[in-house]
Amino acid sequence: MSVQGMAFHQGNKILLKDAKVGVMTHALHYGTAAFEGIRGNWNSDKNEMVIFRLQEHYERLLRGANILRMNLPYSAEDLSEITVDLVKSNGYKEDVYIRPLAYKSHELVANLKLHELDDDITIIVIPFGAYIDNDKPINCQTSSWRRPEDTMMPTGVKLSGLYTTSILAKTEAVSANFDEAILLNFDGTVSEGSGENLFMIKNNEIITPTETDNCLLGITRDSIIEIAQKELGLKVNERKIHRSELYLADEVFLTGTAAHVTSVGTLDSRKIGNGNIGSITKNLQELYFSIVIGNDSIKKKSDYTKWLTSFNV
Ligand code: PMP
Repeated sequence: MSVQGMAFHQGNKILLKDAKVGVMTHALHYGTAAFEGIRGNWNSDKNEMVIFRLQEHYERLLRGANILRMNLPYSAEDLSEITVDLVKSNGYKEDVYIRPLAYKSHELVANLKLHELDDDITIIVIPFGAYIDNDKPINCQTSSWRRPEDTMMPTGVKLSGLYTTSILAKTEAVSANFDEAILLNFDGTVSEGSGENLFMIKNNEIITPTETDNCLLGITRDSIIEIAQKELGLKVNERKIHRSELYLADEVFLTGTAAHVTSVGTLDSRKIGNGNIGSITKNLQELYFSIVIGNDSIKKKSDYTKWLTSFNV
């Protein structure tokens, strides 16, 4: 990976290649960190960088940091300001991915506690195109790995340690030539993808697992719920989903900052609907893309500029 550009590290803006931590760092050994994935979308018509729901990402990061009993000297507003400055310094005129990592920075091993340890936050910015090709539906596999239960680890925030399960699941799916994994809960109901929330559509109703189904409280999920209700007048039902309901759905799609809105064409080698991108998924994809890039070409009933931090680079 390229190590060009600038990072925010140990309270300063420095060259990314110089942003390093020691091998004894607590978070490196125990996954005691919380992170975010934030997208800056390059709007070439307006010559502007458009960051999507910046403050909400930092609010979620700070909720995770609080669970890990971190004392960071920054508010969500401070971190948003630092990020805008960092993105400007990097100067990329293309889509970027912003990765803040709040971590137990104490250099001390064999110490299983959260308190009385140093904490820090690093923010990096990298150029980032498509994570998944959204133009065609993807093929998913129900994972043999289960989504951790909230009784095992807090699941509503992005704690680094949780991602071992996501990575095992994605690796299993990709090694078997699928594109993505769908993880079930311990009770066999559906939770989410390895890095995406899941929605299904049945009879024009949108259904998605609830917060108590151990899924991450996704910012794209929240945005899609609002867009589906306001723009398409659809009913959104948050409830438990059985595995085979997905086989019988009209449409299934995944949402995430990296994945945007991705149609699922097959699950466990069974076609969903007719296997193509469904009409509601297509509509939501188009609306979402136009909103996150601050593009006015599609007329919308509501104003979403509240979600955008736009500036010249
Ligand atoms: N679930 C998991 C496990 C994720 O890692 C992500 C990506 N952050 C999501 C869902 C989607 O969340 P968001 O829309 O906030 O990116």
